[in-house]
Amino acid sequence: MIDSTWTEPERELPVIGRPDVLVVGAGSAGVAAALASARRGADTWLIERLGHVGGLAGFGLINLLLTLDDGEGTQVVAGICQEFVDRLDGLGAARHPERGEWGSEDPGAVARWRSYGLVWGAPPENVRYSVAFEPESFLSVAYDLLEAHGVHLRLHTSCAVTHTIDGRVEVVVVESKAGREVIVPTVVVDTSGDGDVFARSGAETEAVEVYPYQWFRMGGVAGLDGEGPAAGAPFFRTTDPGRVLVPWGGPGVAPARINPLDPVDLTRAEVECRRLVIAEADRLRREVPGFGEAWLDDIAKQLGITESRRLVGGYVLGRDDGDTHFADSVARTGHWTKRGVVYDIPYRCLTTPVLSNLLTAGRCISASRYVHQATKEIPAAMATGEAAGAAAAAALDVGGRVHEVDVDALRRDLAAGGAMVGPGRT
Ligand SMILES: Cc1cc2nc3c(=O)[nH]c(=O)nc-3n(C[C@H](O)[C@H](O)[C@H](O)COP(=O)(O)OP(=O)(O)OC[C@H]3O[C@@H](n4cnc5c(N)ncnc54)[C@H](O)[C@@H]3O)c2cc1C
Repeated sequence: MIDSTWTEPERELPVIGRPDVLVVGAGSAGVAAALASARRGADTWLIERLGHVGGLAGFGLINLLLTLDDGEGTQVVAGICQEFVDRLDGLGAARHPERGEWGSEDPGAVARWRSYGLVWGAPPENVRYSVAFEPESFLSVAYDLLEAHGVHLRLHTSCAVTHTIDGRVEVVVVESKAGREVIVPTVVVDTSGDGDVFARSGAETEAVEVYPYQWFRMGGVAGLDGEGPAAGAPFFRTTDPGRVLVPWGGPGVAPARINPLDPVDLTRAEVECRRLVIAEADRLRREVPGFGEAWLDDIAKQLGITESRRLVGGYVLGRDDGDTHFADSVARTGHWTKRGVVYDIPYRCLTTPVLSNLLTAGRCISASRYVHQATKEIPAAMATGEAAGAAAAAALDVGGRVHEVDVDALRRDLAAGGAMVGPGRT
């Protein structure tokens, strides 16, 4: 007779690897972290629960990099994120304003880039350095770079539990079709978006409930030539002619707030949102000029979760930290709806005092809900990913102890690699 709990019998699990650096979650942050780590010579593993990399930036269809600038025409995110833009440009798979246009308030330029979903915020609007991109190409760039750098990628593999000894993540137990297996890393980087690794390892966390999104794309839309759709249109132009991206979901559109860490809530949201998305595509076909012959191309394969669990780490970046310079800043970001504010991101936002060999990056770093609006964006996620990967490699010189990394040297190393880390001490 099985009661309300059951004790899993002890069993021996195979150890499948002892990498220098294990990155958990292959979204934009995880890919950047793995590349930065491998580039510095670390034996780097990247595991991903789904059958593809990219996370929300891939088949989550959040195919807009908002933003790489400070809202006044100055670039503040570069490094691996810029490298992706350059490669996407090379494939003809990105649309973005050229440098001379950044910061422009010219109404024609603003309207053009707004039609791609690249202009947000209160008037007076201006042109931002933001980028619309095609997701399959984003994945191809990621796979090419991961392979070229010798990253050991394992898809269809989920972090199930961790075991810590004396504040150190000793063992990561993964689940896959192969069953339960063990990885013994020197340093772990949690880029799961949901902070699965640090939460399972005893770090302090914060979590929220959110309205889900499910963006989708439609093809065969007529009348997208020239300046494209007017302000307020419920869709964005994309890199492909006749194809639009519809940013469906959120408060007032999705049926209910959900707990993004609860599979029951997630399942209900997947099923209900999909039904509503199909109804919305029908409505667009019926009511919106140009959509009469359009078809539903694809629905996001990853539910649009803006936030879930965040680390409460060595420092919690807060609203008042805009334009503050930190001696240990390792990445920076602008704000997609605000002009002229830059958040420098301290190394302490990627670490927790309670775990000696763990770093995090991407949307689950240590920031308040307010600043999370900026630090969760894909360019910022790639910037913190790059910083975490470089830090993980640097930590190998000090036994994997991330708090003992020489942060001045890390900042210099990141900057030498093209990343923007802010002025540091002022
Ligand atoms: C509706 C919406 C609109 C947005 N709009 C924009 C925008 O216009 N521009 C912009 O720049 N940003 C936007 N964002 C934010 C941005 O898309 C995300 O915050 C960013 O992509 C997060 O990247 P990440 O790598 O941190 O997380 P994710 O992309 O979520 O990647 C995490 C990865 O980890 C994997 N994973 C999770 N748990 C495990 C586990 N236990 N084991 C193994 N793998 C695991 C996941 O499958 C996933 O691939 C938006 C977000 C949403 C939801």
